[in-house]
Formats: sequence, structure tokens, C-alpha cells
Amino acid sequence: MTDLSSVLHSKLPLAAWVIDIESATVPLLNCAAKKLLKGSLEDINSRQRTLCGALKKRFSLYLESHKQGHLLPFMWLFKSKEGKYFNVIGSVITLENGRKGLSLEAHPASHLLASSADGVDQDGVTSVDFLTQFTTLPVAMFDRSGTQIGSSHCFTNQFGEVKHIQELFAAAGAANHFMRRFSEHSCLSQEIRLVTKNGIRWHLIEVSLDAKTGHFYLVTQDIQEKRDHEIDVYRLNNYDALTNLPNRKLLYQQLENALFNAIKRNRQFGLLYLDLDDFKVINDHFGHRVGDELIQQVAERIKSSIPAEACLYRLGGDEFVVVMENTKSLTELERLAEMIMQNAAQTYPVAKMEMMITASIGIASYPQHANDVDNLLKNADAAMYRAKSAGHNLYRIYENDMADNINAHLTLGGGLRKGIEEEQFVLYYQPKIRLPDETVVGAEALIRWIHPELGMISPDQFIPLAEESGLILPLGEWVIRRACRQLQEWREAGHAPIRLSVNLSSRQFMQANLVSMVERVLCETGVDPQYLELELTESMLMVDAQQSIEKLHSFRKLGLTLSIDDFGTGYSSLAYLKKLPIQTLKIDRSFINDLGIDDDNDTIVKATISMANNLNLKVIAEGVESRSQVDALNGYECAEVQGYLFAKPLASTEFLSYIMQHGVSNHQMRMM
Ligand code: C2E
Ligand code: MG
Ligand code: MG
Repeated sequence: MTDLSSVLHSKLPLAAWVIDIESATVPLLNCAAKKLLKGSLEDINSRQRTLCGALKKRFSLYLESHKQGHLLPFMWLFKSKEGKYFNVIGSVITLENGRKGLSLEAHPASHLLASSADGVDQDGVTSVDFLTQFTTLPVAMFDRSGTQIGSSHCFTNQFGEVKHIQELFAAAGAANHFMRRFSEHSCLSQEIRLVTKNGIRWHLIEVSLDAKTGHFYLVTQDIQEKRDHEIDVYRLNNYDALTNLPNRKLLYQQLENALFNAIKRNRQFGLLYLDLDDFKVINDHFGHRVGDELIQQVAERIKSSIPAEACLYRLGGDEFVVVMENTKSLTELERLAEMIMQNAAQTYPVAKMEMMITASIGIASYPQHANDVDNLLKNADAAMYRAKSAGHNLYRIYENDMADNINAHLTLGGGLRKGIEEEQFVLYYQPKIRLPDETVVGAEALIRWIHPELGMISPDQFIPLAEESGLILPLGEWVIRRACRQLQEWREAGHAPIRLSVNLSSRQFMQANLVSMVERVLCETGVDPQYLELELTESMLMVDAQQSIEKLHSFRKLGLTLSIDDFGTGYSSLAYLKKLPIQTLKIDRSFINDLGIDDDNDTIVKATISMANNLNLKVIAEGVESRSQVDALNGYECAEVQGYLFAKPLASTEFLSYIMQHGVSNHQMRMM
């Protein structure tokens, strides 16, 4: 017999026993306890005495709070099989095995609860008075009709004066529902929202009926924190912390559901795969904090521009997916993509800057483009890639060969670094022609990749890859150096100098040391800066307008000329551009293409040229392919043109033959 068990025996005639909290067993008990607990313990005669269901429930609240480190005094009203009442009082002890235990003893309480139905015993003591003794246990007693007849201080502290049990329940009808369930069981526990003095909070409640009086006891435990924690864990697993949008895991779940519903009801659904254009540039240039803020704002913008029945997910980085169930046609998805692109492209106030970013979108729909979730996502992704390589800020619907194209892209990507190391690139030159005399006044340098296996690859195919991988920086520097050397070579060969323009990409423009790099190359090659022109796009200037202006001024100080390429495809106005130190506007090919076809288009071109002339900006039209276009542009007083009508981009020797044949303007000759 251990010391502990002799202690228990010394308590006779009181019933005394020990509970092992962790295993919910009763390792030790004295004879009186064995008698008292008969029916409340399983295997009472074996050493494996476990608490049976009802008793376990009684202990659950106490054990739970003990686990959380609260060492509450244990007090409990116990009714024996014979109907006698006992106050069970306990204290926490350490067992031989080192585990926590509870040492309990039962004191007869008949003088308290041998009460009549009105709750008063023979000695005149109210049967509910004992409740007030509980200072840490929220417990209350109600009569059959649900009217409160007593409660512990702790209960009143938490819930205030509760006259009727109905006042406790937060949800309308919850009380009636609970009482109905309770009438079917004599003991019930449930997680439910109760109205406390601190607002509505989740509780675990236990109710037990006193069959003798018909009163019932209610014990409550506040589990709001536990619930909050569960919700936090759920959010952590299923939602993106930065944007609060559902994540990839929930996306897969919704797509599986959507597929199931679509198959069952013979319906269609679609998804849009979005990737922000040149987001890397922003992250690299301004740091991740600014990048994160922009992502948050973009997410909000997209969310507010999609209909309620569509759902937006963030896959990570700058990738998002919109799922739209029960679609009728692809046009619906196209309209959604247009709406998102339009809204997303408006400026964002981030870190005291006005930032701009666009999105490329790929569309895939069930059942047209795939029959399973993985392939739908893969195909929408492939379509998004196609949109990106077609020039950003576009959407594309999936077509069969797109996935193959991605593979081609990856092969190209791998070869790009090698291509730069092995100088597999050349510059082609497309003449710029002055109107109305049609003499050559300059050229645009356009890069070509002479791939050892694939042959000549156009910049549209590899510039986006170079941008994404960051290889645009060494490649861009190579272009500027090559263009300057070319100017010097022509000059040294005795040709009249011409103005040569090179294109810059967004990421290159963001490069911190761009101006000093250009200055160094000019020095190295000895080129007069007035013959070097940079072609920039509106969108790259808008990413960070203030810094752009400073950079442009630095270039002007160096003596370079600056031109806005693809004018009309971005969002800036002429009034805004006038604030920038630029000299030339290059009207986008799409406007020139529609000259003479669409009256509205002609009006726009005419007005743009006239306004630009008034603002002292020179206008050049790109993509001129027909004589009628030249005639129209002449009529609008456009200064220069460039296009296949005069010459395609030419290799350097062909370009030389071209200018020898067509001549360079006298003005240029005089400058030699
Ligand atoms: P861009 O700067 O707008 O160049 C004009 C594009 O239009 C060139 O395509 C040119 O070949 C094409 N083009 C010229 N005239 C006509 C015409 O009459 N009709 C038609 N249909 N097209 C015409 P390319 O050479 O394929 O270049 C495409 C784009 O790649 C360029 O557009 C430019 O944004 C970019 N790019 C080219 N070279 C470089 C470079 O060295 N660096 C960077 N960052 N981008 C470059
Ligand atoms: Mg250009
Ligand atoms: Mg252009």
C-alpha cells in the first residue's frame, strides 16, 4: 500500500479517491469511495478504473482549464445512486508517475440539498446558496420553465443578471432548440454563442438535470479564444496573408466543386489566369515592401471590379486567378478580362508615388479547353504567357498549340544567357524618313537574335523573356554600345551622321545606374550625344513618374534626344507628356494601319499631330505601309515616317546601300 493510498484510507468514513488527470482513470480509492462511485466508474474492480461518460463530462471543464494552467479549486455536487448528495472537494497533486492528479473527497451534503421543490431545505437554507461559493466556475441553476433561481458570482460576473435562460443565447431560437434537445437527455453539452457582458462569445455549456427537483444546472466555459485560434489556423492554411484572398488550396477546392457541378448540371465554367506585367521591376527597384503594398492594392482593385459571382484567388507572387461558374459563353469571360485590365491599369498611390501596372490574362474554360482542373489551370497559364509575349496588358483565350509554345519559350530562355555570352545578337536598322521631301534623317536600331538552331528570332519573342530573367540589363547595354559603335563606324567610313534611336525596356529604364552607363558608352565610343535617341514607352514612365522625370532630365543634360514610342497605346495624355523633357512622339502602328479605314481613327491621328505640333513635339508615324497613308500624314503635317513602304529593318551593310541610294537629308550632310 503506497503512502497515498494509506492517506485515502485514513479519511474513512469519508469517500476519498485519486484521479489521474491525463488518463482519466482512478488509480486509487478507499472502500467508501468504491461504494460511492459504483456505477460512475468502469471496471471498478480492476486497476484500470476509468471515469465513465457522465463523470468524464463533469470533469471535462475542470481538466480543460487545468491543461491551460489554471489551478482551480475543485468543487462539485455529486448525487449517489441512492440519491444522497455529496460535496466533492478536490485538490491537484503530483502522482508517483510524475503526472498530475486530483485528490478528491466527498462530504455529505444532505443538509444542503435534501430540499423541497421550492428550493428550501428543512433548516431554511436555500438549496442554491452553495452556488455562490463557486468563485471561478460559472454555474447557474434554472427551474423547469427556464427561470434562473441561483448562480455563482463568477456566472453573474460574466453574464450579468440573467432572469431567463433564453436571455443567454445569442441566436434567436437557439434557446428553444437547446431546451428541446435537453428534454430528451438529462445531461447535455454543446458549443454555442452566449450573450456575455463583453458581447457575444462562443462557449462550451453543460447542462445537467436534478431529477428530484426538476431544476437544472448550467456550467459554462468561454471557448472564444480557442475558436479564434481555430479560425486563425484555418485562415493561415487557406488564405493569403498579404491580400486576405483565398489561396491556391481553396482555388483547387473550388475548381473541383465547379467541375463536379458543371458535369452534373451540364454547365460551363471558366477561369482567368492573371500575371502582373513587369512586377519584378518594381520589386527589384523599390524593394519588397513597396511591391507588397502594390500587390495589396491591385488585389483590392481586381476584387472590386469582378461580379459577386466570380471569385478571386492569389496563387502567390504577382499571380492571381478568377473563377467564374455557370458561364454561358467565352464572351462573358472576355468581358470580365477587359474589365479587370481596365481597372487594374489605373494608377495606384503607393509610398507617396503614383504607380502604374498592367496585367496579362489567360482564359480557359470547361469543357472547351480541358476536362480536368490541372489542365484547365495549365492551359489558362499557357494563354497568359501568350498574352505576355504579345506585348503585355492583353488577354488571350487558350488555343491548342499554346502549351507547346511554352516549351519553346523555356528552351529560348535557357539559350538566352548563352546567346549573350556568345554574341548571337545583331542590330538591324530601319530608316526614318522626313516628310514631305522623303529623305532619310535617321534610323531605329532593332535587335535580332541569330539563334544557331532556330534561325532569326524576333525581339517580341525574347525581350519579354530577357525582362523576366533580368538578362535585359546586359542585353540592353550591349544594344546601346553596339548602336554607338555603329554610328562611329559609319562616320569613320565617311558617311553623313544620322540620328540613331534605340529602344529601352521597362526594367532597363528602372536600372539605377542607367544614365551613367549611357554616359560611359558615349565616352568610350566618342559618339556625339545629339545623334543618340532613346525610345521609351508611356507605361515605363508611369511606373514612377517622379523618378522618370529626373532620369529624363539627366539624359537631356547628356545631350540625348528622347522619344515616346507606341504613343496612344498607354494612358497618358499629351498635356501630361508635355511636362516631360521629350522631343518626339511616335504614333503607334495600330493608328497608322487604320488610316483611311476608320474616320474616328483619322480624326484622332490628325488631332494628335496638330496638338503635338503646337506643343513643339515632333511627330513620327510608325508602320507606314502604303502611299495613301503617306498622303494622309503629309496632309496632317506629320514630320517623319517609318515603315515597310520605305524599308524593312535592314542589316548594317544593306542599310548603308539604302542611304547611299536614297540619300541622307542635306541638313544632316551639313552637320557632318
Ligand atoms: P517598336 O520599337 O515599336 O519597333 C517597331 C516594330 O515595328 C519593329 O518590329 C519593326 O520591324 C516593326 N515595323 C516597322 N515598320 C513596320 C511596318 O511598316 N509594318 C509592320 N507590320 N511592322 C513594322 P521588331 O523589330 O520586331 O521589334 C518589335 C519590338 O521589339 C519593338 O517595337 C521594340 O519594342 C522591341 N525591340 C526591338 N529592339 C529592341 C531593343 O534593342 N531593346 C528593347 N528593349 N526592345 C527592342
Ligand atoms: Mg521603337
Ligand atoms: Mg513602336
